[in-house]
Amino acid sequence: KSKKNKSKMKILITGGAGFIGSHLSEKYLESGDEGHIIDDVSTGSLDNIKHINENKNFSDNFYVTIDPILNEERMCELIEDCDKVIHLAAAVGVKTILYKPLDSINTNVLGTEIVLKYCNKFKKKVLVASSSEVYGKQNKAPLVETDDVTYGSSDKLRWSYAVAKLMDEFTALAYYREKNLPVLIVRFFNIVGPRQTGRYGMVIPTFIKQALSGEPLTVHGKGTQTRTFTHVDEVCDCIVKLMETQNAVGEIINIGGVEEISIKDLAERIIKKTGSESKIKFIPYNEVYTPDFEDMPRRVPSTEKLKSILGFAPKKELNTILDDVIHYFKNNKIQ
Ligand code: UDP
Repeated sequence: KSKKNKSKMKILITGGAGFIGSHLSEKYLESGDEGHIIDDVSTGSLDNIKHINENKNFSDNFYVTIDPILNEERMCELIEDCDKVIHLAAAVGVKTILYKPLDSINTNVLGTEIVLKYCNKFKKKVLVASSSEVYGKQNKAPLVETDDVTYGSSDKLRWSYAVAKLMDEFTALAYYREKNLPVLIVRFFNIVGPRQTGRYGMVIPTFIKQALSGEPLTVHGKGTQTRTFTHVDEVCDCIVKLMETQNAVGEIINIGGVEEISIKDLAERIIKKTGSESKIKFIPYNEVYTPDFEDMPRRVPSTEKLKSILGFAPKKELNTILDDVIHYFKNNKIQ
């Protein structure tokens, strides 16, 4: 049954079998659109989209291509065939960036170049997913889209992710300014929710898994570093609306939540919420990943720009977000 009186739009979501992409695919399918995804199932997985594939209301409108975005021929075909593109495919997670640096840089720089090149060829509107990581070692709060950035030296691989995403932003804006391609860029602030895995370093699924299995929660450094977590559902609502408004074209826009928390407090809160017997284990930074690992001390978004464009921004409290993820872990018996 068609819920809305409108013609079907074909949306292409790169990274559609990823954590964010799978939620976004559902949103578009629910509003009666066609969802095309391309995913190499590297950090994403077919499990993330199993329930979408099996949903009879969706299956006629949902098309999955398993391929890397570096496959130009495939990207050309898909982009030509769709109406709009949301580019989420990327190498993500601190672990991926540190231990697979070359693949990560190629996917995050060349991959985006390919997406933008074919979006420009067929003049398709495109959203490029960037990250709050681009703010680098900034210690100010809140972070505003026009703020300066500072990174560590190039022998510290962590920063390759920020630089790659920044290059994606430059390239997207260049296509907008020189070729009139309708692009928009969003900077995500620590998005969390069901289906996110801790396998690539992400802290909330890691802590919840540890708490539920009675293992110590591994807090890096002293745990004074802060983050502002954002629920994936609210992020997807913002993306859908941003894709519809002309005011977002050519803009860089933060998408982030409301509650700043230190990682130590986060660990304590998760232990309490899960009723776990787990203790906290502090791991010195130099023992976590590589000896010269550098972290971002603080990350709080300004969402003024987002609000001025959409009239709203994510506002879920951290407690609600954590309850949702804990529920997901318990319900799905995730090991
Ligand atoms: N972190 C932690 N223990 C873990 C995983 C992550 O203390 O097991 C910390 C990490 O060092 C960082 C914060 O939690 O300060 C957020 O890490 P994540 O990798 O989730 O996101 P990002 O660093 O990209 O913000």
